[in-house]
Amino acid sequence: MSSTQLATFPAIQRGELTTLQFNMGRLCNQACLHCHVDSSPARSGAEDNAAKNLCEQIVELIRGNPQVLTLDLTGGAPELNPNFRWMVEKTRELDRKVFVRHNITVQSEPGQSDLPEFFAKNNVELFCSLPCYLEDNVDAQRGQGVFAQSIVGLRRLNQVGFGTGTYTLNLVYNPIGNSLPAPSAELEPAYKTELRERFDLHFDRLLCITNQPIHRFKSALHRLGKLNGYEQLLRENFNSSTLDNLMCRSAISIRWDGKIFDCDFNLVQNLEIPNLELKDLFAQDLSGNPIGTAEHCFACTAGCGSSCGGELV
Ligand code: SF4
Ligand code: SF4
Repeated sequence: MSSTQLATFPAIQRGELTTLQFNMGRLCNQACLHCHVDSSPARSGAEDNAAKNLCEQIVELIRGNPQVLTLDLTGGAPELNPNFRWMVEKTRELDRKVFVRHNITVQSEPGQSDLPEFFAKNNVELFCSLPCYLEDNVDAQRGQGVFAQSIVGLRRLNQVGFGTGTYTLNLVYNPIGNSLPAPSAELEPAYKTELRERFDLHFDRLLCITNQPIHRFKSALHRLGKLNGYEQLLRENFNSSTLDNLMCRSAISIRWDGKIFDCDFNLVQNLEIPNLELKDLFAQDLSGNPIGTAEHCFACTAGCGSSCGGELV
């Protein structure tokens, strides 16, 4: 690993666009301590959640552009958007992959108990947050009772074939505090053993993600007087070999209001891609265009690197 401390984040450019990440809105049944989107149950207004016409526009873009291989649905809890199931079904009919950022506990919300069957029927790939296999740690970060509900939800997913060889179930780990995540090669075996022996639960891969020092997590660090130290830690662990694999090179993020960003982190920071409207997204080749960067980008390049797909090197 090459490690060099930089004064500013290096210039980076887009490669071929193969993934559309669509943030369907900020409504969520949880309000986690580290949520970079500031999601919560209070975010139910139209200004925070995608309308049907935007969903239709995105499906048409996917239909017309075969280089888009994957639609990555996130939120909030994307399942709480009334257009979520329509969006999944239409995209799968086009034979593209669908990733869903699934918080597991949303299965307990009214009308959502059949989500495991819906996911299986549409063969989506799931990415589920579980920042520890210990109850106290999960509840401290994600809310009282979240761990117990997550175990119930994971069992339902296993029962319909996720994580047991038929459909893909990835778990997502992020540190409880202001440290870098350990490599997944170290954490994954412990997760697999603990969840199997204690709960008879199974999953495919553990993705390790670095906490972004933005929004709710940034405020918490600031209150504790730890923000500067955390940003310094990210800079000190800059790893240039992560740069080629940054998710912003091959993906683009569309917000619930139709605005376009280089990634979900830039999306919540309002760092919009200039002069680019959704209708024109594929009218020009974006390869080689500069990516908008800021201090928070050092979270993607620290140590083994970090992205919505886990480590980068
Ligand atoms: S489940 Fe995800 S979107 Fe919801 S509050 Fe927690 S981190 Fe945010
Ligand atoms: S924060 Fe976004 S723009 Fe910055 S390096 Fe990470 S993925 Fe790329």
